[in-house]
Amino acid sequence: MKYSEEVRPGEKIRLDDYDTSRSCGLTKEEAREKADELGREMGELQELLFAAGDTALLIVLQGRDTSGKDGAIRFILNHTNVQSCRVAPFKVPTAEELSHDFLWRVHRQTPPKGGVTIFNRSHYEDVLVVRVAGLAPEKVWSKRYGQINAFEELLSASGTVVLKFFLNISKKEQEERLLDREKDPVKAWKLSVDDWKGRDQWDDFTRAYEDALTRCSTEAAPWRIIAADRKWFRDLAIAECIVETLRPMKKAWMESLESLGREQKAELEAFRASRGA
Ligand code: AMP
Ligand code: MG
Repeated sequence: MKYSEEVRPGEKIRLDDYDTSRSCGLTKEEAREKADELGREMGELQELLFAAGDTALLIVLQGRDTSGKDGAIRFILNHTNVQSCRVAPFKVPTAEELSHDFLWRVHRQTPPKGGVTIFNRSHYEDVLVVRVAGLAPEKVWSKRYGQINAFEELLSASGTVVLKFFLNISKKEQEERLLDREKDPVKAWKLSVDDWKGRDQWDDFTRAYEDALTRCSTEAAPWRIIAADRKWFRDLAIAECIVETLRPMKKAWMESLESLGREQKAELEAFRASRGA
């Protein structure tokens, strides 16, 4: 079962066509159980990815405010070894970052081989908020789609698996989550006037997201649309996609680790023999 919806290269996306509360007939309990099972497999695959050291995994999380980026990160980190997994958040650029090209701050955060990095927002902000809020002229941001595709192609050709998730929530669900934050003293710190400003520009962000999804879904790095109104379904869809992407690499990783293991053992035996033990 495919719980996430992959955008094919060249496919024109209209977000109205996507159900934000999709759950494929699963109950919360069923989805949580499946997600935990996949989470365990994800952890095992990540250990192999780390040990084999020939592949990197970049997970890009994009979505409107309250779409669940932090929650998805918590789910992934709960199931992975934090030693080789990091999170890179992208905020309003600093003066130094702005004095470079828009990919400068992004490229240096990409994962090394054997590592996993989760982008909490990403270079896509440079064609989303930058476009909607008019932070750069159209002639600047409109070139960025191609520049992003070339960048992701480079990462992919260099051994990085790029998984991009758009967490798709409805306007109604967002309102509920924002109002919940106000009521919860532990979550109220997350409140920001920008969230409500973003709601006024909901349709502009929709157009900007549709263009990013349409123009930056490539063979090397397709977008996946995740129905995110239900947190438990969101986690399941993300876990499934990560596991299904890594699972086909397992055999080669095992073989390379076994052959490495044999070499290490032979070396140890030679060492013992040389000592006459
Ligand atoms: P948060 O994810 O709630 O911590 O907020 C981070 C804020 O930084 C969001 O409002 C983003 O839109 C903003 N942001 C991230 N990247 C950029 C960028 N390249 N240009 C302008 N604002 C950005
Ligand atoms: Mg925020």
